[in-house]
Amino acid sequence: MDNAGAPAPIRAPEALRKKLAKIGLHCEADLLVHLPLRYEDETRITPVARALGGEPVQLEVVVVHNEVQFRPRRQLVVRAADASGEITLRFFSFYPNQQAALAEGAHVRVFGEVRGGFFGLEMVHPRFRKIAEGEPLPAALTPVYPSTAGVANSALQKLVGAALAGAELPDTLPEELRQRLKLPGFARSLRYLHTPPPEADVEALQARHHPAWQRIKFDEVLAQQLSLRRAYLARREQGAPVLVAQDDLGARLLDRLPFGLTGAQLRAMAEIAGDLAQPYPMQRLLQGDVGAGKTIVAALAACQAISAGWQAAFMAPTEILAEQHYLKLRDWLEPLGVRVAWLSGSLKSKAKREQLAATAADAQLVVGTHALIQDGVDFAKLGLAIVDEQHRFGVAQRLALRKKGSNPHQLMMSATPIPRTLAMSYYADLDVTVLDELPPGRTPIKTRLIADNRRQDVVGFVQKHVEEGRQAYWVCPLIEESEALQLQTAQETYEQLSADLPGLTVGLVHGRLKADEKQAVMAAFAAGSIDVLVATTVIEVGVDVPNASLMVIEHAERFGLSQLHQLRGRVGRGQYESSCVLIYAGPLGEIARQRLKIIFENTDGFEIARQDLQIRGPGEFVGARQSGVPLLRYADLELDAELVELARGVAEEMLTDHLELAERHLRRWLGSREELLKS
Ligand code: ADP
Ligand code: MG
Repeated sequence: MDNAGAPAPIRAPEALRKKLAKIGLHCEADLLVHLPLRYEDETRITPVARALGGEPVQLEVVVVHNEVQFRPRRQLVVRAADASGEITLRFFSFYPNQQAALAEGAHVRVFGEVRGGFFGLEMVHPRFRKIAEGEPLPAALTPVYPSTAGVANSALQKLVGAALAGAELPDTLPEELRQRLKLPGFARSLRYLHTPPPEADVEALQARHHPAWQRIKFDEVLAQQLSLRRAYLARREQGAPVLVAQDDLGARLLDRLPFGLTGAQLRAMAEIAGDLAQPYPMQRLLQGDVGAGKTIVAALAACQAISAGWQAAFMAPTEILAEQHYLKLRDWLEPLGVRVAWLSGSLKSKAKREQLAATAADAQLVVGTHALIQDGVDFAKLGLAIVDEQHRFGVAQRLALRKKGSNPHQLMMSATPIPRTLAMSYYADLDVTVLDELPPGRTPIKTRLIADNRRQDVVGFVQKHVEEGRQAYWVCPLIEESEALQLQTAQETYEQLSADLPGLTVGLVHGRLKADEKQAVMAAFAAGSIDVLVATTVIEVGVDVPNASLMVIEHAERFGLSQLHQLRGRVGRGQYESSCVLIYAGPLGEIARQRLKIIFENTDGFEIARQDLQIRGPGEFVGARQSGVPLLRYADLELDAELVELARGVAEEMLTDHLELAERHLRRWLGSREELLKS
C-alpha cells in the first residue's frame, strides 16, 4: 500500500468486490484501515453450566440431536452438550448447509448470549463454527467489522488478515514528531486494533480511547489537513490576474453610500484588496453573521477588479436573492458608469441573448444564479468570482464558475457561522475573514416563543405592527416529507391571514411560483405595497427589506437552528425595533425544546452554531461542501477537537520538511478519494 502507483485491488471474487465497494472498500489499503466496531472474546471457552450471566460467551459443544420443528413456528432446534451440561440452540432461519453442519456428533463452537428458557438453557441464533476436535483457540480477540448485507464478518476478517499479512506498514510520521506527540507507532496501533491480545482493555478499545485509537484518529485527521493544505498551496502556484485598481471607482462607490463601513468591513476590504493584487488566485471565505454587511464588501472587491480592467461575477443560490443583489448592485454601480449584466434561468430568450452577448463582450459585472455557470456562458475576461451563500452550492458548481475564467480570484461568502473545529476541517484550504461586527444602529431583535393555541394573539400583533407602518413576514411550516403539502399549507395560511386581517394587503411567495411572479411579489413587498408576506423558506437567505421588522415563524420546532437564525435575521435590518415570534406546537420533544431555548436565549450566530453542533453533530453545517469530502470515519470533530488543532500544525510542518512522508500519508489514508477534496 505504500508503493507508488495504482492501489492493489482486493483479491476476492467479483461479486464480493462489488459488495465491498458499497462500504468504501476498493483496495487492499482500504481494508487495512477498515477498523472493528467491537470485539468478541473467542479466546476462552465457558462451560455450559456456567454460561448464564447476560454476557456473550463461547461454548464448545457436541451436537446431541438436531430437528426441524414447526410449532410455534418453523425452527431448527439443536440439542448440544459439553461435560458440564446441555443447551438448546434455536435458529428461526437457516440454510440447509447450516443444518448439515449441525449434524449429530458435530463439534462446534458457538458464540452468543445464553438465556434460561422454559426448557432449560438456550441460545437463539448463536454464531457457530464447526471445528475439528482439539482445534486451538484464537490467540486474539475477534474483531467485529462494520459490514453490509451478504458479507460475513468472518470473510472480512480473512480479507483484512490477508491484507495485514502482506502489508508493509512504515510509519508516515517522522520519528521525532511521533515522540513529541507521544503517539504509538502506526503498524503497532493498526495490528493491535485488528487483533488485540486477550488481555486487552476491551472497553478502552470499544470506546476508542485507547492510545492505538488516538494514533489512528490522529492519522486520519492529519490526512485531511494535509490534503486541504496541499490543495491550498497548489493553488498558490497558479498564476492569476493581478488586480490593481487603475481609477477611484471603489472610493466613488463609498462616497455614494448612505453609511460608513464598520471596522470589520474595512478590515475585510483591506484583506481582500491585498489578495486581489497578488499574482496567485485569492481563495477567501468571508464569513459574517446575517446582516453583517457582506454585500458591500463584495461590491468593493468587484470595483477593484473592474477598475483593473477585468470582469467580476456574482453568483447567488436563489432567483430572489440573485435578483435582489442585481438590483442593489445596479443601483450602486450603474450611476458610476459600470455596465452590469443579469443572467438567470427565467430570462426570456431575447433578453438572455443580450445578456449573454454583454457577458462575452463589455459587461463589467455579471450577477446571476446558477445560470452563470451553464454551458454557453462566456466571460470576456473574468478576474473575480464571487459566490454568495456559498454553502448552498456544490463543489462542482463553484469549480464551474472558476472555470469561466482562467484562475480568477475567488471570494466566497457565508452567513452560516461555523464553529472553529469545523472551520479548520472544512475550510483549511481557504483564507477566512470574519465580519465580527454588525453595522451600528441595529436594534436587537426581541424573540418570543408562543404556543400555537395563542395564534390569534399573534395575528393581533401583526395587525398592530402594520398599523405602526411596518411590514411583517409570516413563514409557513416546513414540511419535509411533501412539497405539495407545504405549498397547500402556504396557500391556506395566506387565505386565512387575508381573512383575519381585512384591510391589510397579504402577499404569498413560495418556491413553485414562476421566477417573474416571485420577483413581482418581492418587489411589491420591498416597495411597501404588501404589508404581510406569507412565505415558505424561499426567503431564508439574504432577502433584505429594512421596513420589515416582524418575523413570524409557524411550527418553529420543525426548523433547524441555523435556519431559524437566518430567518430571524431577515428583520432587524432597519432602524425599527424588531421582533421574531416563534410559534410552536406542543408537545415538544427534548431536542426541539433545546433548540428553541437556544434560539430564544442567543442572538450571536456563532454561539448558536456552537450549541447546535453539540446537539446535532457536524453533518448539516457545511452543507454542500461536505459532498465529496471523505467524512472522518473515526475521529469526531467535536470530541477530538484537540487532535484537529494538533494535526493542523503538523500538516504544515510536514509539507515543508517531510514532503515525501506527507505524500505517503495521503496515499495511505485517502487513496483515490483525494481528488474529491479539491474544490
Ligand atoms: P449580509 O451580511 O447578511 O449579506 P447585507 O450585505 O445584506 O448583509 O447587509 C444588510 C443591510 O445592512 C443592508 O441593507 C446593507 O445595505 C446594510 N449595511 C451594510 N453595511 C452597513 C454599514 N456599515 N452601516 C449601515 N448599514 C449597512
Ligand atoms: Mg447576504
